Amino acid sequence: MSSKLILPGATLGVMGGGQLGRMFVQAAQEMGYFTAVLDPDVTSPAGLVAHYHIEAGYLDEQGLAQLMQRSDAITTEFENVPAGALVTLGAHRPVAPTADAVAVCQDRAKEKLQFRRCGVPCAPYALIDTPERLAAVPDELLPGILKTARLGYDGKGQARVADRAALAAAWDALGRVPCVLERQLPLALELSVVVARSAAGELVRLPVQQNLHRDGILAVTQVPAPDASPALQQQAADAAATLAEAMHYVGVLCVEFFVLADDVPGLSGRLVANEMAPRPHNSGHWSIDGADVSQFELQVRTLANLPLVAPRRHSAAVMLNLLGDLWFRDGERETTPPWPQVLALPGVHLHLYGKASARRGRKMGHLTVTAADPEAARATALQAAALLGLPAF
Ligand code: ATP
Ligand code: MG
Repeated sequence: MSSKLILPGATLGVMGGGQLGRMFVQAAQEMGYFTAVLDPDVTSPAGLVAHYHIEAGYLDEQGLAQLMQRSDAITTEFENVPAGALVTLGAHRPVAPTADAVAVCQDRAKEKLQFRRCGVPCAPYALIDTPERLAAVPDELLPGILKTARLGYDGKGQARVADRAALAAAWDALGRVPCVLERQLPLALELSVVVARSAAGELVRLPVQQNLHRDGILAVTQVPAPDASPALQQQAADAAATLAEAMHYVGVLCVEFFVLADDVPGLSGRLVANEMAPRPHNSGHWSIDGADVSQFELQVRTLANLPLVAPRRHSAAVMLNLLGDLWFRDGERETTPPWPQVLALPGVHLHLYGKASARRGRKMGHLTVTAADPEAARATALQAAALLGLPAF
């Protein structure tokens, strides 16, 4: 990654046109950059708002050439972008994060080795890529969660398995692709940390986030984290910084953590790394409304080699994810959720990603409630949740 300063007026490119790309594009545009998005989907959320949308697959040579032609520097919003494409782009343009860093984060086996190298504990696991390895799985890993090594997201490509028979059946069902089996851990809570690191090695971060998942999908993020001690938060922040430094990471990186409810044999301490995302993360969306520098502005700054300043949280924030299910509360017929009622509540910031059709489990948007103190943010978020038919938290 070069440390070339890229000033507003230049064009920033992004691989992937999902909601993360859209919010990156919006942050870049606010600062006076032009933007280019490569995504095969004509109606991609980021493609709809970027100055240039290159409708091509991630490995399409012509598409990549066009993206390079348009862009002064290129980032990614999607960890499943083939690392090979980033290598091609990186030969001609500054690319952050680099193909190497993305390759680690897009493979659970490599990611776990990285955790180990950095002395960051992670769930006990085994790699399963042959029938022999399947047979050799130690009993301690059951009950466990079988996860495809690559291409999983939002709980997809995962199966909870209680015993060996279920494990064998689940591996078959996942097409016998390389997987990791993780022991199912007793979770007290989940945290994440978003850090940004510049080519010059400056590192800043957002405050530690507390996350609630439902069915393997992020549902709620609260900042400040209500149930994590300052010591635990510091430990998570330090681990995230260590990982970013070790990878010579440039860009925005999110590290997800588990906090264990009980001691687990073989694990020291209660903080365990789950996974990393080489990009802004759903749990950092609150920073658009609750901090003076958002995770997307951090992505712009690292890519353009602008100075990094530590984001300051100016409000307490609760983020609620808005999944497609909210559009089907009345059964099969698609109906718009009650936005006017929700927007009548104080401190509600609605973000919809411009996706044409709602589907169950699809991330359609999020809303962030900001307030002067965490109790008020939570109380309003609970009211919003009730209006939307979401469970309390
Ligand atoms: P993302 O959308 O964050 O990329 P993902 O599909 O990659 O999600 P994970 O983060 O691996 O999935 O898991 C999703 C959720 O499932 C976790 O946040 C946690 O709630 C639960 N989970 C995953 N692994 C374990 C484990 N080993 N023990 C207990 N719970 C787990
Ligand atoms: Mg996750």
